[in-house]
Amino acid sequence: MRSAKFLGQDKITIEETPVPKPGPGEVLIKTSYCGICGSDKRLFHNGAKVTPGHELTGVVVENGAGADVPIGTRGAVYIHKFCGACKFCRVGETNRCLTGNGLVGWQTPGGYAEYLLAPAQSIIPLPDDIGDDEGVLLLDTIGTAAYGIRKCVDAANSRARADDAVVIGCGPLGLGSLLVLIGLGWKNVYVFDPAESRLQTALAFGGKRVDPNDAANASRFSIVVEASGSQPGRLAAINLVEAGGAVLFLGESDLPTTVQETPKLRRKDCNYMRTFYFPISQARDNMALLRACRARYRQMIADVVPLEEIEHAFVDFIAGKTLKPLVKP
Ligand SMILES: [Zn+2]
Ligand SMILES: [Zn+2]
Repeated sequence: MRSAKFLGQDKITIEETPVPKPGPGEVLIKTSYCGICGSDKRLFHNGAKVTPGHELTGVVVENGAGADVPIGTRGAVYIHKFCGACKFCRVGETNRCLTGNGLVGWQTPGGYAEYLLAPAQSIIPLPDDIGDDEGVLLLDTIGTAAYGIRKCVDAANSRARADDAVVIGCGPLGLGSLLVLIGLGWKNVYVFDPAESRLQTALAFGGKRVDPNDAANASRFSIVVEASGSQPGRLAAINLVEAGGAVLFLGESDLPTTVQETPKLRRKDCNYMRTFYFPISQARDNMALLRACRARYRQMIADVVPLEEIEHAFVDFIAGKTLKPLVKP
């Protein structure tokens, strides 16, 4: 099979590798599409030990011992390998699994290849009306955003709907957060991104323009989604949330953020939320969110490239020319 090898320094080669054999409890998946994620940029720059790709859909073509997924099942792959038995898994919180068995596309080979292995229990079957291309969005774009946002709505005890929400950073995760909020019925979702082209996309998707540096907007928003991962974005998020509201830190960065405590900050009685991925049980509800804003989600995945062009697809993605490009092995 063909699989991508991330060499580092922005180089990717396509190699011939053996098709893997599914072990106990695993299935062999023929990849349909794998979405490029902002978090893959680090691997593009620094290289990766295994083939990356963690936002993928495919078709089950073989079962390992004890696995019993109908051959031909189309599905998205839930990448967080969960045990199903720990105290969190037992109550359906698979994203909090204690076993730490790793992530598909990070610790074990992922979707930038013709085939990959995944635990049978990690297949999220797709209904007939959701295509393999759209299915990719059920993972990081909708799944991660929707889980965090639902937790914030609960924590903020939001009078929601009529309240103001804001999304900082309008990359794929920010756009997903915007569409999730709209799909959940929020009428006033504001957006900010210092890059005008990204901001324009968010405005076209139904967001409203806001200036986070305008003092009049401080302590105004019930829900603040920080999807940039940047220090200015995180500080703006803390400034914008209202008393009793919730800040959701979704954007990834390895850089530290220094928060200067002030009397004003100490007295802001609010929730700071950092969430990871989503419980697999929410996948079905998230399909309804996909259907609610389908045309805009489809716009996000308009760029599809063959595996051979993956290196170029990363260059275009990093340059901001594409939203959520899909690689088709
Ligand atoms: Zn991702
Ligand atoms: Zn577990």
